[in-house]
Amino acid sequence: MKLIILDRDGVINEDSDAFIKSPDEWIPIPGSVEAIGQLTKAGYTVVIATNQSGLGRGLFDITTLNAIHQKMLDAIKAAGGTVPVIMFCPHLPTDDCDCRKPRPGMFNTISERFDVELTGVPAVGDSLRDLQAALLAGCTPYLVLTGKGRQTLEKGGLPPGTQVFDSLAAVTAHLIEKDQQAVSPVSVPVASEQGEKAVANGSTDKPAPKAKAKAAAKAKLASLAEKPQKTTGKKEKSEKKNSAENRKK
Ligand SMILES: [Mg+2]
Repeated sequence: MKLIILDRDGVINEDSDAFIKSPDEWIPIPGSVEAIGQLTKAGYTVVIATNQSGLGRGLFDITTLNAIHQKMLDAIKAAGGTVPVIMFCPHLPTDDCDCRKPRPGMFNTISERFDVELTGVPAVGDSLRDLQAALLAGCTPYLVLTGKGRQTLEKGGLPPGTQVFDSLAAVTAHLIEKDQQAVSPVSVPVASEQGEKAVANGSTDKPAPKAKAKAAAKAKLASLAEKPQKTTGKKEKSEKKNSAENRKK
């Protein structure tokens, strides 16, 4: 399956330092909802993982958060998109939970839920902590320059391998183009006179670099994940409880 994990505020909708506390305050970034529609049509399972400490701070309640998400899902649906799972962390930074990004708890739960390894899965965010959580979970971090993205870029210290794009729409165009490029070298020779040979080449040549890249990514992940896992490992059992989630019917 093709999975993509998105942050919410600053990626899909305009961010606010005063928090998004009502459906009225949820305003889509131009092109973002349409991008999710395109991702869905291109075969991606689009999942959202978002820190929502406004819940823990008492700025809004779960009913309001559901109403905000319903507005978002309606807009996405109108653009031909679906989002089967929205993960959110309701905790305060001081709660020391495992789900609040930069910790990878929500990502790990997504991995379990869909029974899929996150190696190479694109994870899009506008804050450093989104990218850090993504990398710890094995995803490929994508920074967008909407929301807090420009500030994040200027501060520097981005995780290795971070891809930078203007917006979710730009990430989407890139991913869809990359997918098409990955398919075309095999499909073109098949139609030629030397079809058999070309297919054989396609099947032997292609997997090697992929496998290499996978092994390299795994090795990188293992070294990067080592330290943080030591500090968060104790709390793994409570991760599911702490990691509130909202599944769309
Ligand atoms: Mg954000």
